[in-house]
Parts: sequence; C-alpha cells; structure tokens
Amino acid sequence: MDMTFEYAPALESRAIVSIKPKYGHFINGSFVAGKKHFPTINPSNEEVLSHISLGSAADVDKAVLAAQKAYAKTWSKLSGKERGKYLYRIARILQERAREFAVLETLDNGKPIRETRDIDIPLVAAHFFYHAGWADKLDYAGLGHSPQPYGVAGQIIPWNFPLLMLAWKVAPALATGNTVVLKPAETTSLTALLFAEVCQQAELPDGVVNIVTGDGSTGASLVNHSGIQKIAFTGSTEVGKKIARAIATTDKKATLELGGKGANIVFDDAPVDETVEGIVNGIFFNQGHVCCAGSRLILQESIAEEIIEKLKVRMSKIRVGDPLDKNTDLGAINSREQLNKIQELAGVGDSEGAERWSPQCKLSDKGYWFAPTIFTGVTQAHRIAQEEIFGPVLSVLTFRTPQEAIDKANNTPFGLSAGVWSEKGSRVLWATQQLKAGVIWANTFNKFDPTSPFGGYKESGWGREGGKHGLAAYLKTGKESGGK
Ligand code: NDP
Repeated sequence: MDMTFEYAPALESRAIVSIKPKYGHFINGSFVAGKKHFPTINPSNEEVLSHISLGSAADVDKAVLAAQKAYAKTWSKLSGKERGKYLYRIARILQERAREFAVLETLDNGKPIRETRDIDIPLVAAHFFYHAGWADKLDYAGLGHSPQPYGVAGQIIPWNFPLLMLAWKVAPALATGNTVVLKPAETTSLTALLFAEVCQQAELPDGVVNIVTGDGSTGASLVNHSGIQKIAFTGSTEVGKKIARAIATTDKKATLELGGKGANIVFDDAPVDETVEGIVNGIFFNQGHVCCAGSRLILQESIAEEIIEKLKVRMSKIRVGDPLDKNTDLGAINSREQLNKIQELAGVGDSEGAERWSPQCKLSDKGYWFAPTIFTGVTQAHRIAQEEIFGPVLSVLTFRTPQEAIDKANNTPFGLSAGVWSEKGSRVLWATQQLKAGVIWANTFNKFDPTSPFGGYKESGWGREGGKHGLAAYLKTGKESGGK
C-alpha cells in the first residue's frame, strides 16, 4: 500500500527581524545616507523588503579613505592577540543572533531556512572563530617571519551565500591585520548591513570594516580605486576577467573565486543509496546556486539506469516551496534575471536533443521558481555540459572506462570542484590525482570547513580562500614584507 503523508506547514516566524525601509552605507563606523536607492525584494513572493543605497565612486572613495585611516592609526598598531579578541567577539555575537541572521538571509535570498539555520550561519560563525585563533599566531604559520598585511582590501561578493561569502572575505582580512571595504551583491545586501550592526555591537574600531552597497559600477569603482592593495572577488568568470584586466597594470594583489561545472563521477562499485543522496545534495543544495555544485553527473554505463531511476524517485520527494517553511528543501531562485538564465539554458538543452525530466511539483505564480530538473543523454558538446547554469539543473553523461570518466570530467574551461563515488580507496586516489579541480570530495559532496582551502584551476579562478592558504593571500611574505 502506498501511503503518502502530507506535512503541515511549519513556518519560521519572521518577527525576529526588523528591516528598515531604507539603508545607507556603513562607513567609518556609522551608517551614512546614500543618494540613490533601489529596492531589494523577497524572491519567493516579490515583496519589496527595503531600499538599498546605490554607491557612487564618491561613496567608495570615502569608504577607502576611512579604511586607510583605520589601518594606519588603529588596526595595524594592534597586536594579533587584540585583533583576535574582536574576531572572537564578532563570532559570539553572530552565534547569539543566529536566528535573526538566518531568517533575514532566507527572506532576502530565497534559500530555505533549514539551510540558513543549519549551514550558512553556523559556518559564518565558524569562519570568525577559526580566524580569531590565527590572529596571534601568524608568525608561526609557516608564512615567513613576521608576515605583514597589505593595507586595505576591496572585497566584492555574490548573492548565492551572502553572509557566508562576507565571512570568507572579512574574517581572514581582519585576522591578518588588513582593513576592509566590502561590496555585497545588489540583490542580497541585507545581512551585510546587519553585520555592520554587529561590528558596532562588538565595538570594532571605526573604519576597520566599511560596507558600500550598490551594483556592478560600485564594484568597478572599488576595483579601480588606487587606495586598495588587495582585491578579493567571488562571482562570475566574466566579471572576474574584467577585474583581472583592470588590475593588470597595477601591483594590486587578487584572489578570484569564479565559476564551475563540477563533475560528480560515479563508478560501478559505488554504494547506490548514499550516492543518490550525494548527487541530490551536490546539485539541489541552495537551488544549485553553488559555484562548486556537482552539476555534471558522470555515471559508469553499467549502473546508469539504476542510478537515474533511483534519482528520479528521490527527486520526487524534494519539497519545493516557501523558504521560511522548515520542511522546504528547495527554495526560490534569487532573481528574475537568474531565472531567465536558467530557463534559457534549459531550453538550449531541449533544442540540443537532451532529454529533460522534472518531478511533478506545484510552483507558486508569485516569485521565481524552477523545479528540480535532470537532463539525460547529454554529450560533451552540449552547452548544458559546458556552461554554468547556476540553478537546480543536472546534466547526466556516461562513461565506460575510468580514463574516459577523467577525460570527460576535465573537459571544461573550469576546474573548481569534483566528486568521486567508489568503494575502492585506490580508485578514489587514482581519480583524484587525475582530476583538475581545486576541491575534490570522495563519497560525499558540498562539505565546507574554514580550515580547508577552497579555489580553482583554469577559469575557476586564482588563489585559495580558507585554511592557511587563505591567510597567505592577505599577507606579504618574504621580500614583499621588506625582507623581514
Ligand atoms: P557577477 O559576477 O556579476 O556578480 C558578483 C559581484 O560582482 C556582485 O557584487 C556584482 O554586483 C559585482 N560586479 C558586477 N560587475 C562588476 C564589475 N564590472 N566590477 C566589479 N564588480 C562587479 O555575478 P551575477 O550576480 O551577475 O551572476 C551571473 C552569473 O555568474 C550567474 O548566473 C552564475 O553563473 C555566476 N555566478 C557565480 C558565482 C560563484 O560563486 N562562482 C556567484 C554568483 C554568480 P551586482 O550584484 O550589483 O551585479
């Protein structure tokens, strides 16, 4: 007998957040009114949540000057131990206010509360705790004797993990003694602005963290500002290339975390049920808005049918709906623009002859929604096997020999992540050595930890964030620091 249980809605209350009708920039420890504003909306129902300031070149200039002053007068004068205390304080406040941040992130981004509550916000706090611990130990990190900060870091982040990307950028910059000007993504500024309040609450010295909201032009002003010594960017490969060109004739340092088309390779000895869970987590976590998503499933031919069949059954159980509902697995697409891009690329998949499948699911008329989708019969030449869709869409390819799996996995301009599923340790080790990817998971996927460096090969970017490698990206070592 087939028994299906309906879940009663379990809505998280939004009473804990108070959103102002309008926000300014956070410069030199205070909120400063902006001139022009644009709306920020809840992508699950198109409700206008607030109005965000559009930062001009003059706003960026003020923020950079504040960061320079704070660097020269305060932050560079503090010992690592003192800096560490501020980072610990920020981490603790983030934990105390975790529910507020989780609800606000879900409202502004559209991702499920289950993810903001259990993944994004705990990881944000973990990043601050981890880097707080490094602040007074940099001389012993194996990065040379007394490595020195660069000065002011300009940081530009995307909309897929708004507060988490802020933490990836701000925590190592402050731990290493740099000051910061950060530009959040246009559609998701609210948690960065709440973080500004946390900086005030932690009594972080004025100007150490500055936040200028705005669009791509605000980001470009930051990149081109002569007072910035280091740029940290996460976003599209297209904008990453623009930044690389803009700084080519300067001595600015940069880390660029760009796109991906992660291969998830399944060998015929993989444990089937665990693998199916891993495939689902790899592509449907965060609506597939993940640069390291396992968006290309590469299955050994002999088990392809069984895996696809089980995957379809599992996909039918994915609950798509209100992101504030604690039962929701897949939330809203972050913007109309991103939904258009996903729809367009899925249409290309149809026209190139791949076979599309989605489970039955009711999608709301209001807001931006896309059902979990797989394409089978995909070949390497298809655009859906090569381009980043950045949505809940999986492209399935098959292979016969292990070498063919590796060749297919490496055959994209990207090289950010990959997954290998097999019971044999020797096979996993062999495959990971052949794969050109910065992060490779074995028998799991999308696991993140502040201690572990993250970054890509080829068009997936430059440099690493997280772990000791991430610290090094914010420090002058050896000759650069004056031979110290
Ligand atoms: P972008 O790369 O345009 O945005 C990332 C950040 O850069 C945002 O803060 C953006 O501002 C800013 N920015 C835009 N143009 C410039 C510029 N010329 N100079 C400096 N900063 C700039 O990504 P999108 O949001 O437009 O997404 C487009 C595609 O990029 C997605 O479909 C996806 O494929 C990919 N992407 C990849 C991500 C990753 O983690 N690898 C993350 C996000 C997107 P603003 O928000 O105002 O545009």
